[in-house]
Amino acid sequence: MLGQMMQMPLLISNLLVHAERHHGAGEIVSRRVEGDIHRQTYRDLARRSRQLAKAIAALGVQPGERVATLAWNTHRHMELYYAVSGQGAVLHTLNPRLHPDQLVWIAEHAEDQVLCFDMTFWPLIQAVASRLSTVKHFVAMTSATHMPTGEAAAKVPGLLCFEDLVAAQDDAYSWPSFDENTASSLCYTSGTTGNPKGVLYSHRSTILHAYAGALPDALNVSQRDCVLPVVPMFHVNAWSLPYLGCMTGCKLVFPGPGLDGKSLYELFEAEQVTMSAGVPTVWQGLLAFVEAGGLKFSTMRRTVIGGSACPPAMIRAFHEKYDVQVLHAWGMTEMSPLGTVCTLKNKHLAASQEERYAVMAKQGVAIFGVDMKIVDPEGHELPWGTEAGGDLLVRGPWIVASYFRGDGGDPLQDGWFPTGDVAKIDADGYMQITDRSKDVIKSGGEWIGSIDLENIAMAHPAVAMAACIAMPHPKWDERPLLVVVRKPGADVTREQLLAFYDGKIAKWWTPDDVVFVDAIPLGATGKMQKNKLREQMRGYALPTA
Ligand code: AMP
Repeated sequence: MLGQMMQMPLLISNLLVHAERHHGAGEIVSRRVEGDIHRQTYRDLARRSRQLAKAIAALGVQPGERVATLAWNTHRHMELYYAVSGQGAVLHTLNPRLHPDQLVWIAEHAEDQVLCFDMTFWPLIQAVASRLSTVKHFVAMTSATHMPTGEAAAKVPGLLCFEDLVAAQDDAYSWPSFDENTASSLCYTSGTTGNPKGVLYSHRSTILHAYAGALPDALNVSQRDCVLPVVPMFHVNAWSLPYLGCMTGCKLVFPGPGLDGKSLYELFEAEQVTMSAGVPTVWQGLLAFVEAGGLKFSTMRRTVIGGSACPPAMIRAFHEKYDVQVLHAWGMTEMSPLGTVCTLKNKHLAASQEERYAVMAKQGVAIFGVDMKIVDPEGHELPWGTEAGGDLLVRGPWIVASYFRGDGGDPLQDGWFPTGDVAKIDADGYMQITDRSKDVIKSGGEWIGSIDLENIAMAHPAVAMAACIAMPHPKWDERPLLVVVRKPGADVTREQLLAFYDGKIAKWWTPDDVVFVDAIPLGATGKMQKNKLREQMRGYALPTA
């Protein structure tokens, strides 16, 4: 027997309609690329998103086609989130920190039709525009007075002005209704091998993920909050915060390009931010600034930290010095991204502060919707509450089922998604990542592809074999160390090898150091055993300069 309830698809545009009707006066504040602090309401957001939806449709974008962004967190980016997905097209958030070659590869794979960019990235657009074969229009996310002019502008075909496009449309527009399983946004993730893989979210997965994300034991967002997402909107939809804004009507504060400690702190104080979210590296910068100036947070009470492991010392510093609660969270691009969040259970309220810290250092408990298990190398499920660690597998309605266009192989294993992380789960269900089975390096919350770095080194005439491994780093969490076996009789210095990377990769991808060895451990199938190599290099310190 079927239930007898209304069938209404879960659509992203519903969030916007809800925000306009129920939280219309709620504020959205942005530090913009132009340098000003911009203010608008959810009512303005809804109106401008309708105008923008019409403008994008007028550019010829069809349902399902991809509209890319290369942009900071601002109200204009938020408007694109709703205008693009709301009309049935797919929002593709490009990561501006990627090397231009990778960016081009991804945009070509996605077949982006329109690319909207902040003026910060104008030099990048000029460099890659001629290689983006599917992009028909480049939209500068600014007003007419800040538009590029002259020869440079003439060289980018189809260059348009965001504010002009919006102003040319009225806001008489009704959001279309369609199947909730329709694709809404696209993010690429880089794995250990091969090309980046596209994860194509749906309206349904996005809404369910947002509902779960707002729960008190997840991100705990309410209308009374003032939320400043430091996590970029090009990083897995800023962990859902642009959607949670409309869902809850909370005040949103977008930091734009100002991600340094001083700019962030000023915004936290001026706008009375109560909650934030970002990777550990950002908080290191902010804490250093606050500490140096002997400052305090007057309103900030919670911050979500994830993307890589949050150092326990940071959880402690936030709590003891600033009365800020850290919500340690774990997730992945393939998981929309939220998987676990670490909040205390009732039983911990009576525990000592030290016991609480021990819990808070873990990655947390699965939020409803995510099921997880750990397995041994043969795939047998391991018990919780023991010291046994195993491969972490997950499943749920906002977890990837297949990669975009099928490129990247079948991601599932018997209906579960193997995360590539190694974890333990305690008797209370708190998961703790103990290792990463993947070999990519995570610097400041951003991946560095070790294979890419090795391939370049291997292209040097004096190199026989090269492995790139992550080494712990006090500021960036991890930085790449290049381990090299020279060809017999050949000679090459550390400096020559590092110089060899110039112009081939983004500068910050360059390894911090090179170590020469006689041999790199190999496994039975001839693959490098990086776990063993890491073991051998343990205790080695990267140069700090
Ligand atoms: P991404 O797809 O770029 O979001 O990266 C996902 C990966 O980041 C996960 O598979 C983990 O290896 C790592 N990660 C994310 N959050 C955490 C965390 N809180 N602690 C440790 N590792 C994390």
